[in-house]
Amino acid sequence: MARFVDVHTHLTHAAFAGEQDAVIARAVAAGVDAIVVNGLEPRSNREVLALAERHAAVKPALGIYPIDAVNELIPTGFPYPVPRFDVDAEIVFIRELALAGRLAAVGECGLDGHWVDASTFPLQERVFEALIGVALEADLPLVIHTRKLEVRAAEILAAHGVQKVNFHCFGGRTSLARDWAERHGWWFSIPANARVNQAFGKMLRELPLERILTETDAPYMPPTRGERNEPANVVGTVAFLAELRGLTLDAAQELVAANYRALFGPRWC
Ligand SMILES: [Zn+2]
Repeated sequence: MARFVDVHTHLTHAAFAGEQDAVIARAVAAGVDAIVVNGLEPRSNREVLALAERHAAVKPALGIYPIDAVNELIPTGFPYPVPRFDVDAEIVFIRELALAGRLAAVGECGLDGHWVDASTFPLQERVFEALIGVALEADLPLVIHTRKLEVRAAEILAAHGVQKVNFHCFGGRTSLARDWAERHGWWFSIPANARVNQAFGKMLRELPLERILTETDAPYMPPTRGERNEPANVVGTVAFLAELRGLTLDAAQELVAANYRALFGPRWC
């Protein structure tokens, strides 16, 4: 049974090259025995599957990151390299694995209005809705990225009647998150930098307890600026949750583990 959980991490990132096994071993030693590794595009999706074959603690989530979803529209001179690939073929690949029971979740996916402009929104939404369809068909949770388009993403999810939703690193207002947690039963995973990020601290303080999960988004969002983040750091977030809500560490750990079980199901515990 899972103890500490990291529901959103990128162990396929180049920052972990050659060190994945050591990073996972450190997490497991710290009690983190459910690490949901999220893919973004064909290369990382396949690496996630390979990692899950090697490590029982790794729970595979395959997705198409909203920027990668519009790779054919990315202008030259974009601030970072975006691989060109056939998005529809990747959706077919994800669907086959989802229906075969090989995936813990569909994601990372969603909508981004920060890095790309409105001309990409129709294609972003088409890919997002296709992945929502896969998650619904396979009865899997969706791991959602939204930047600036939180309300639009929620409209789409609500229109499809999706309940198994986890918003990762939610950047919208806490009042919105609380409302959606109460109204739709959606979950929110809080990153490991919550002690130094007021908005995430506020979410830990104000969200319904049964809708809180923990994540790292490693290698990003470290608890200490400038460091490389890793899954073992979710332990600190659970300790902070315990402090803020007047719980023992054991009770907070049990609570988040139960929330994980509720969203991902016993097969992935
Ligand atoms: Zn991510």
